[in-house]
Amino acid sequence: MGRQYLVEDELAERIYRFLLDFAAKRDISLMYSPLRHVAKCALNGLFVHSDINLIIIDTDLPLAKKCFVLAHELGHYVLHRRYMNPIWAKAYWSKDCRSWRMKKEAEADRFAGLLLDSAKRSVQSETGRGFSESY
Ligand SMILES: [Zn+2]
Repeated sequence: MGRQYLVEDELAERIYRFLLDFAAKRDISLMYSPLRHVAKCALNGLFVHSDINLIIIDTDLPLAKKCFVLAHELGHYVLHRRYMNPIWAKAYWSKDCRSWRMKKEAEADRFAGLLLDSAKRSVQSETGRGFSESY
């Protein structure tokens, strides 16, 4: 008890760095683009698996939201990349496969929740050492 927790912004920044590190270790490239202006549908992020692994994140999102989007796209990388090919991609965006796509999205969301939890724990224990206890 009494540990000094980081303020929201600082926490988000450190969590984001944790996620960037997670991506870098797996050789995943990152790109920022004003996705919502480019894509017709409301996309916050995108994971592309081809010769390289690439995650595109909407430039305009607030940092806390970027954390979730990045964690979610990393979920697609961890859980789905081995199934991803042109046929998969075509099915993914077809109307007939909406419920299947929703299931895959839910899987990526669940992964994101777990990864963010572990990022938070790691960040808090890392920073806890640097702070004096407050009473
Ligand atoms: Zn997704």
